[in-house]
Amino acid sequence: MPAYDYVCHDCGAKFEVRMSMSAYSSGEKPPCEQCGSANVGRAFTTVNVLTGSRGGGGGGSFSSGASCGSGGFS
Ligand SMILES: [Zn+2]
Repeated sequence: MPAYDYVCHDCGAKFEVRMSMSAYSSGEKPPCEQCGSANVGRAFTTVNVLTGSRGGGGGGSFSSGASCGSGGFS
């Protein structure tokens, strides 16, 4: 089980919490070990943030009307 670093915004304590990745990704926050406050945040920043994939699309539709003048002279 991986460990994650948290920092308390109330008392400033840093502590390490082991939790499952599913609990971590669901935004579950442990209380502070020092003061028991729930006002804690993750102490490290994850680098691999996946942004949305950019899908290219959109094409112009060209309507080319070829007009041949059919002129006949008799
Ligand atoms: Zn605290």
